[in-house]
Amino acid sequence: MPPVIDEQKCVRCGTCANICNSAILLFDRKNPAPPQVVFPEECWHCEACVVDCPADAIRMRFPLAYSLMYVASSTLKPEELNRDRD
Ligand code: SF4
Ligand code: SF4
Repeated sequence: MPPVIDEQKCVRCGTCANICNSAILLFDRKNPAPPQVVFPEECWHCEACVVDCPADAIRMRFPLAYSLMYVASSTLKPEELNRDRD
């Protein structure tokens, strides 16, 4: 699933479109509209656009399979973090 841009928060800076290596987002400096998500299926959810957005205007919608696999490292105990190293 693609990133979702909050049009109310977006300040139309174009940073997200510039940072995306996969050209998922299209931003036209001559058009005062927020970037458009043009290739949502190509997004690999790196969150670079989310991190670099100066207006906190982007949130990611992860596919269900990603959501089920995701575990925040801050919630793991030390032995769980080291399990793969054994
Ligand atoms: S980086 Fe954020 S504020 Fe800038 S154009 Fe993208 S969504 Fe809008
Ligand atoms: S999450 Fe990564 S690949 Fe997807 S739109 Fe943002 S910068 Fe591009």
